[in-house]
Amino acid sequence: MIVEVIVDVSAYPIDRPFDYIVPEELETLVERGSRVHVPFGNRKVQGFITNVKEQTDLDESKLKEIISIIDVEPVVTEELLELSKWLTNKTLCYEIDALQVMLPAALRASYKKNIKLIDPSAVDEQFLTVFGKKDVVSYDVIEKSGLLRLMKKYLIEGSVQLETIIKQQAKAKTIVKYTIATDKEFIVNQLKSLTKQAVKQKELIEWLLLQEQQSFTSQELIEFAKSSNATIKALIDKNILEKEQEEVYREITSLDYQDKDKRFQLTDEQTYALASIDQAQQNAENTTFLLHGVTGSGKTEIYLNTIEKAISDGKQAIMLVPEISLTPQMTRRFKLRFGNKVAVLHSGLSIGEKYDEWRKIWRGEVSVVVGARSAIFAPFKNLGVIILDEEHESTYKQEDNPRYHARDVAIWRSAFHKCPVILGSATPSLESYARASKGVYSLLTLRQRAKEQALPTVHVVDMRIELKNGNRSMFSVDLADAVREKIEKKEQIVLFLNKRGFSSFVLCRDCGTVVECKQCDISLTYHRAGEQLKCHYCGHEEPVPRQCPECMSDHIRFFGTGTQKVEEEIDKLFPYARVLRMDVDTTKTKGSHERILKQFGDGDADILLGTQMIAKGLDFPNITLVGVLNADTTLHLADFRAAEKTFQLLTQVSGRAGRHDKEGEVYVQTYTPEHYAVELSKAQLYEPFYHKEMLIRKQYEYPPFYYLTLVQVTHENVMLASEYAKLATDWLRGNLSAETMVVGPTASAISKIQNRYRYQCLIKYKKEPVLIEKLQQLIKIYRTEWMKKGVILTIDLDPSTIL
Ligand code: ADP
Ligand code: ZN
Ligand code: ZN
Repeated sequence: MIVEVIVDVSAYPIDRPFDYIVPEELETLVERGSRVHVPFGNRKVQGFITNVKEQTDLDESKLKEIISIIDVEPVVTEELLELSKWLTNKTLCYEIDALQVMLPAALRASYKKNIKLIDPSAVDEQFLTVFGKKDVVSYDVIEKSGLLRLMKKYLIEGSVQLETIIKQQAKAKTIVKYTIATDKEFIVNQLKSLTKQAVKQKELIEWLLLQEQQSFTSQELIEFAKSSNATIKALIDKNILEKEQEEVYREITSLDYQDKDKRFQLTDEQTYALASIDQAQQNAENTTFLLHGVTGSGKTEIYLNTIEKAISDGKQAIMLVPEISLTPQMTRRFKLRFGNKVAVLHSGLSIGEKYDEWRKIWRGEVSVVVGARSAIFAPFKNLGVIILDEEHESTYKQEDNPRYHARDVAIWRSAFHKCPVILGSATPSLESYARASKGVYSLLTLRQRAKEQALPTVHVVDMRIELKNGNRSMFSVDLADAVREKIEKKEQIVLFLNKRGFSSFVLCRDCGTVVECKQCDISLTYHRAGEQLKCHYCGHEEPVPRQCPECMSDHIRFFGTGTQKVEEEIDKLFPYARVLRMDVDTTKTKGSHERILKQFGDGDADILLGTQMIAKGLDFPNITLVGVLNADTTLHLADFRAAEKTFQLLTQVSGRAGRHDKEGEVYVQTYTPEHYAVELSKAQLYEPFYHKEMLIRKQYEYPPFYYLTLVQVTHENVMLASEYAKLATDWLRGNLSAETMVVGPTASAISKIQNRYRYQCLIKYKKEPVLIEKLQQLIKIYRTEWMKKGVILTIDLDPSTIL
């Protein structure tokens, strides 16, 4: 017997299955989707069995034998095996990466297997003796006794059972963490003032500035940032890093479940939407629905009903949310409705606990999974519906191999299971809405809020005028007044500080001008090295101006603000207010989101101050005022999606106010009040925004009119990085169609990460039938030749950012 095995050697130039001979004693054990150990070169490596066959086309005498079996039951279903092939081609990754991403982390590490005796009377004497007086023995004992074949037979018959023992993560109460200072401008200044000798410190600071995460263990800094204890200490002395003891997560029990699951008389719009989805479920149609509903229009209620329907048909459901720790209120509604039929893949679970949930899914003990991106690979065998809430969120795209988008995987699985997909959002991505407009997706619209509350009144405040009137504070006079009024009335306030990425554009505080690229209509990115402004779409460069090119003011500077600074101002302006802060610093501990939200929900504070993480999911009756302190940060990202992201964010944040009986008010502070993303978010006018934005995308040739592919080349040596980037770019230019634009090579916006210099090339195209084939050829050249020279080449066929 022969098996085809995808081996775990990502450094190998060839990505295809290899044939291995199955020794006789393992023949009954090998199955598609199980993992094995095999010899590869002179090493022993892991691999997945992707096929079992009688004969090989190769010379059998040259084949090697598999060494041992890792899984006695497959860990990847037939469907997921097929999906992995598709994923490999779609994202241009190694097939092994596509397979690994589907497994829970626990299975990627080493673990122990035990065999448990269920029915001693059904197994033969010899097998029984291995157990002695116990009813559990380790798998290794059975393997050594040469009884694997019998064991497999008993496994199938059910007289023995497999138990997997996952070591729980260390139970330490606290660990030491290093947290980066919140004031990025301070850090950048420190960076500039470093001496030439402080290379290591410079590297660590640059690395830190690039991370999403704000606090790190020393192990992370040493391993990933290639830093040292001495360097860490130096940054602590400079107040760039802070050393802290972090409490290790314990399950939050205070989230009580005492309240009942509420059922509503559905609104007409809800009824209509549900009927359409119902019909698709009934007829086993793999329709993709785009459920476009203003915030509070009752989308979640539709999800719950659809899932209920799937369950009553004996099917299962996947419910994806952008980030599970940010949606405790939603998860609670699922628990209330589905009880123990739902598995919640919460980020607070240990690796072992996550694995337990995964087993429940595998065995069909639960019917619903609620989780973030990777839950799309839940090994359900009979899906009835797949739902992505907030489908526009960028967290659905994985920024590492395999670079997949959960939306694409959902649509693939829905075709396999013949079930509908629901993409829900108040602000759909332009891509999805364009597809719905073309009839590729089926559009369902909810225009009314479920409880018929009015949308909140939105006031846009022009911060340029505030400055002219001598107000240099981060609070406009109007917003400050409104805050005072609400505190007096004992109502609650959410203040939102926009802090996406690290601010990197140059803004004139007098007229609101941001320096842009003339050709690309995109903000130029500020590079501290050489005080340059650069365009990352076309490569244009210019020095940072000293004066505003529009109004000649010299109030033109690098833009950014920290939450701590706002907190100090709140202290000054409203000394009697009780404030809760929710940002990366106060939510480092797992479970802290939930804790802060609960405190706020219980009325323990007047003001909740936070970053983007508070934009989602907040649903408290007493919130009547939302203030957006700086709408401009996202507006001027060096990203063609800047306007879209701003519109989404402002709409989401405004949606937090007045969701219940009390009327809501919103203040949006900006230096660019006339921008259409700001204007149109006032009344959540999605369609007009969509049309306006589409015109711009068309004019400047961006998605969804054109597709983008990002090719990035990195190397420790700057010359080699640029040289190979040029090789790649020239090769692509020579091999792709003439209509396809190949831009570059240019240094990436973030020109160096972890000691590696980064160069990139951007492919822009409308139709490029040979793209995948050519990119595969390029990858082959890279794997066989360039990789040996220390080059790393990455290709992203649908980059969510091109920094
Ligand atoms: P969305 O997911 O679109 O933001 P939700 O489903 O959370 O909206 O609904 C918003 C609020 O309205 C929630 O408090 C929910 O309990 C309530 N709700 C939903 N549907 C109805 C309905 N048909 N009648 C009354 N209230 C409803
Ligand atoms: Zn100006
Ligand atoms: Zn440009």
